[in-house]
Amino acid sequence: MPGGITTEVRTYQMYINGEWVASKTAKTFPVYDPSTEEVIAQVPDAGADDVNRAVAAAKAAFEEGPWATTTAQERGRVLFRLAEKIRANLPALAELECRNTGKPIVEAEFDIADAATCFEYYGGLATKVVGYVNPVPDNAMSLSLKEPVGVAGQIIPWNYPLLMAAWKLAPAIAAGCTCVLKPAEQTPLTALELAKYFTDCALPPGVVNVITGFGESCGAPLVQHPDVNKIAFTGSAAVGKIIVKQAADTVKRVTLELGGKSPNIVFADADFEAAIDGALFGVFINQGEVCSAGSRILVQKSIYKNFVEAMTEKAKKIKLGPPLERETKMGPLVSKEQYDRVNSYIEIGKKEAKLASGGGRPEKIAKGYYVQPTIFCDVTNSARIAREEIFGPVAAVIPFEDEKDALKIANDSPYGLAAAVWTRDIFKALRAVKALRAGIVWVNHMQPTYVEAPWGGYKQSGFGRELGPWGIEEYLETKQVYINLNEAPIGWY
Ligand code: NAP
Ligand code: MG
Repeated sequence: MPGGITTEVRTYQMYINGEWVASKTAKTFPVYDPSTEEVIAQVPDAGADDVNRAVAAAKAAFEEGPWATTTAQERGRVLFRLAEKIRANLPALAELECRNTGKPIVEAEFDIADAATCFEYYGGLATKVVGYVNPVPDNAMSLSLKEPVGVAGQIIPWNYPLLMAAWKLAPAIAAGCTCVLKPAEQTPLTALELAKYFTDCALPPGVVNVITGFGESCGAPLVQHPDVNKIAFTGSAAVGKIIVKQAADTVKRVTLELGGKSPNIVFADADFEAAIDGALFGVFINQGEVCSAGSRILVQKSIYKNFVEAMTEKAKKIKLGPPLERETKMGPLVSKEQYDRVNSYIEIGKKEAKLASGGGRPEKIAKGYYVQPTIFCDVTNSARIAREEIFGPVAAVIPFEDEKDALKIANDSPYGLAAAVWTRDIFKALRAVKALRAGIVWVNHMQPTYVEAPWGGYKQSGFGRELGPWGIEEYLETKQVYINLNEAPIGWY
């Protein structure tokens, strides 16, 4: 295997206070390769005791350790070193990500490179955090200072494991916070590999702790812990709602990056071929396990029939196969649970709409959690497959009459993460940009994501923004300082 990550079942420990440790109970749980359904690793099953020691380490590092007096330049250099380490190990990390998630190797390589870029970006941003001098109308000086929020609990999903870890850790480190990261139970491996670089990168013990465990037994105690100042969560809306309630008792800062049911609107005047490609890419990339998946494809009636036909033809040619093969465009879904969930939505869809292509397991693949790229057409926006996030390769194609109709359908969703619009008419495009209630709007593309630009949702897709300067802001408090310049008593009494 390139880069030294082998195929044998590896037993991992987790990383707390700069040490590799088992869980207090010594329990572990298995991690799978979804393309073979075989166990590839065992990781510690962390519980409340482990959360307590990780949070204690993070708190001590924040308050007393060398991190407490670290300079922004030093934090920046740590992040640059992490970026370099990730790049140097890219083939091995991509391969591990590919095997653990089932995503195609080429996509895994992009993800790992993006994770490195994220660390690099926040390495640069660390020294650009500035406060203000507030123009108060008195003989005084008023300052706003930016300070780290403290201990951050970070809970992430399984679809982009290392990249989601980077989105969380990089801005937190830049801000001077300390972290307890809980990866998803299905995909903890690349975050644990990342922790192996910390010592070499001069990240002091306790600054970043990586604990592996399940949502209820490990995530929940982290969210409830009184010494955790902020929770950054990426995951489903259902769990996001639980997180907000759990965080309420200790009035934690919370940011939520939740799911979506993002509309991808194709107007009749769009470049037909480009829109077909964009519609497929928008919903089937990463097996459709993408929070911003364009899972509602809204197509203008005048081109609807041809569009569905062309899309269906092209979808049938998408190459499903072993994720490590470079020609593979779609691998298996991440787990048996996700496979069952997606298939149950396909069954619901068969009752609600017309199946245009796909609709289940590919015949020629015996093992692994593979689902064909599936397209339902003639879907109404009130159907469950148009309202609920499926998080798999299932597209709902919905016809629309005109611009007003399209925008109304697009916004008729509890979610508001992303949207895309395909047209050659600049006026129509910009009217849509204004009207769409979504945190990200693409014109004539869908999915490009950049560390320089904000990411996050409207409505039930969450609150707070990641990436760019917005991302670091979520890890900063603002302190107002007033300095009296009069040397006399106030003179009130
Ligand atoms: P999930 O089931 O909501 O889990 C997300 C994380 O929360 C996991 O680490 C999970 O642990 C943990 N968790 C579960 N229950 C918890 C609880 N009661 N308290 C604390 N933590 C808990 O989501 P998922 O299935 O992993 O990921 C798919 C979802 O993520 C989709 O809805 C997708 O849209 C969303 N997502 C959003 C974005 C975005 O940027 N907006 C990006 C990627 C994914 P376990 O692993 O043990 O379940
Ligand atoms: Mg889960």
